[in-house]
Amino acid sequence: MIVTEQKAFTEIVGYLNPYKRLFIVGCGSCATAWHTGGETEVREMAGKLQDMGKIITGWVVVEEPCDERKTKRELQRAHAAEVAEAEALLVMACGAGTGTVAMAIPDKPIYPALNSLYLARLERLTRTDERCVLCGECVLAWTGGICPLATCPKGLLNGPCGGYKDGHCEVDQSKECAWVAIYQRMKNLDSLEMLETIHPPKDFSKMTHPRRVDKTPA
Ligand code: SF4
Ligand code: SF4
Repeated sequence: MIVTEQKAFTEIVGYLNPYKRLFIVGCGSCATAWHTGGETEVREMAGKLQDMGKIITGWVVVEEPCDERKTKRELQRAHAAEVAEAEALLVMACGAGTGTVAMAIPDKPIYPALNSLYLARLERLTRTDERCVLCGECVLAWTGGICPLATCPKGLLNGPCGGYKDGHCEVDQSKECAWVAIYQRMKNLDSLEMLETIHPPKDFSKMTHPRRVDKTPA
């Protein structure tokens, strides 16, 4: 899941100041699950903007706005007339969803209503934690499925920094040291010998932006 938060309403209103007629796009996937851009939040946003005198020409919660096919289907076809009436679009989705809407509707200004925070495990409906920073070269095979890049503030790949205390991270003592968690996991799996290998520096060029993968159709 991509974890998002809603921007302060004052920031959103600042972007939308020059426009009277708006179309709102929500996300039926992560932002719905995290209650930042699902139907409930889109309706609330529409109501607040209407209270300020804005005209909402329409809204839609796209199943996955980061999927260009679904976004185009909704915005260029099903809701084309409502989008055409709008001067600008407000998108309640992550940056990938917002960027996809921008590419699907190139002739209108697009504004984000959310901040994208991180890629997470959904622990329960009110709690997530960061699990992956999309490094392009996954190391989970030798860390017991726990990502040191996402869970250690220093992103260390060959064991702890030595600053941990009582199993807790020196950067944030409310958190368990990532490498203590990795050690315990490997111990439980009876695979501690895997931690004896020193791994070479990571190829961070795989995180150089922009990244793009074009798959050859099967
Ligand atoms: S090593 Fe961590 S950041 Fe890289 S792909 Fe695996 S889980 Fe994601
Ligand atoms: S104490 Fe552990 S989690 Fe914290 S920075 Fe050091 S190695 Fe990383």
